[in-house]
Amino acid sequence: SLSDRLDSAFKNLKGEGKITDLNVAATVKEIRRALVDADVNYKIAKEFTDTVREKATGEKVITAISPSQLMVKIVKDELVSLMGGEATELNAKGAPAVILIAGLQGSGKTTFSGKLANYLKKQKKLSPLLVAADVYRPAAMEQLRVLGEQIGVDVHLELENKNPVEIAQNAIREARAKNKNVVIIDTAGRLAVDEAMMTEVANIKSAVNPTEILFVVDSMTGQDAVNTAKAFNDRLDFSGVVLTKLDGDTRGGAALSIKYTVEKPIKFVSSGEKLDTLDVFYPERMAQRILGMGDITTLVEKAQAQFDEEQAKKLEKKIRKNQFDFADFKQQLEQIKKMGNIKDLLAMIPGVGKAIKDIDISDDAFKGIEAIINSMTLHERANPDVIDSSRRKRIAKGSGKDISEVNAFMKQFEQMREMMKMMNKMPMGGKMMPGMR
Ligand code: GDP
Ligand code: MG
Repeated sequence: SLSDRLDSAFKNLKGEGKITDLNVAATVKEIRRALVDADVNYKIAKEFTDTVREKATGEKVITAISPSQLMVKIVKDELVSLMGGEATELNAKGAPAVILIAGLQGSGKTTFSGKLANYLKKQKKLSPLLVAADVYRPAAMEQLRVLGEQIGVDVHLELENKNPVEIAQNAIREARAKNKNVVIIDTAGRLAVDEAMMTEVANIKSAVNPTEILFVVDSMTGQDAVNTAKAFNDRLDFSGVVLTKLDGDTRGGAALSIKYTVEKPIKFVSSGEKLDTLDVFYPERMAQRILGMGDITTLVEKAQAQFDEEQAKKLEKKIRKNQFDFADFKQQLEQIKKMGNIKDLLAMIPGVGKAIKDIDISDDAFKGIEAIINSMTLHERANPDVIDSSRRKRIAKGSGKDISEVNAFMKQFEQMREMMKMMNKMPMGGKMMPGMR
């Protein structure tokens, strides 16, 4: 992910307290590559990183977070603001509102039309009419008919009529007669942008004067999405974008490219073939998806507020030298406590959230541990190996704990140190908490 790449780009610069021209230059390249990997158009990735470079230079890295983590946050904030900041509502007001759906063949227009009708019916309590204006393939009409049946929405079909403009006009008449308040016109697409297709959609547009024209684009088409969006926008001046097939690993860089190129809001994202998987577009979520991270920015913000940089550096050194002791453990616990709810914090670390979802971690869980450490002498805290069985008995008494609890904790601590040793042997160095890299 981008976070990993930035970490390695900054590897030789640890200890830098500030983001400088030098380390920005090193990382801007990494950010650009990560964006291109997430399917952001190359030219746009370049312009974007130029902006980030300006914003980042001179930013002070005040705490235990690394410059790379701060960079990730700057990049994310910039992505969010570029993608519009807020979600943009669909305008479905009219008597009836007319929504024209356009896009290449296979982009997901018909599937989206069904999802949108379902969404408007269920979420907005509207009464939609679907219109089959793809007259070239009988299968396309049949597809929409079946979708309509599944969601309980009427479909306007004219199997013998080959004129999509007439069909659209007839459908609007039918909607008025039947008190439908929103008409969704599913049009024909072709495999590539061509004049015949554009003329046809443009003709429907001038005949029905749509409330919204939604351009549907397959997010997996990546780099090409930009050119397609531009061609459709030049001709139709559409009002919004729908990103489909945002399933599984698709990173969604197309969202950024399209918004950047045509400056039209993305209104919906759609994934999967089930009819209830339509989502309003949220720039914040998309930015996280593009960067491939958990909620690392929130973690960075909290860490920025609470972690002491010097202390974290010392700790890192001790872990690297396999000298992590009870005094460090206690300090680390105090830091964590300052930062708030322990489970919430752990859940923000990418990859950890899911693993601990069902485990009960209470903030009290650490109280007993603290009592045990408090009963150790400073010498014992710094030298865990001297703690023999008679010292354990004394510690148990002092902390009001059972000897078995002290033994169990000592064992856990040993395991933790073993784990740290192993992480130190790993090529990238294991990562757990900020400052423990
Ligand atoms: P159209 O030619 O633009 O009308 O595209 P269709 O709606 O017929 O979709 C083309 C293919 O993509 C069909 O096999 C759909 O089932 C599939 N499809 C559409 N939307 C999605 C989606 O969001 N995710 C996935 N995985 N498949 C989709
Ligand atoms: Mg279709």
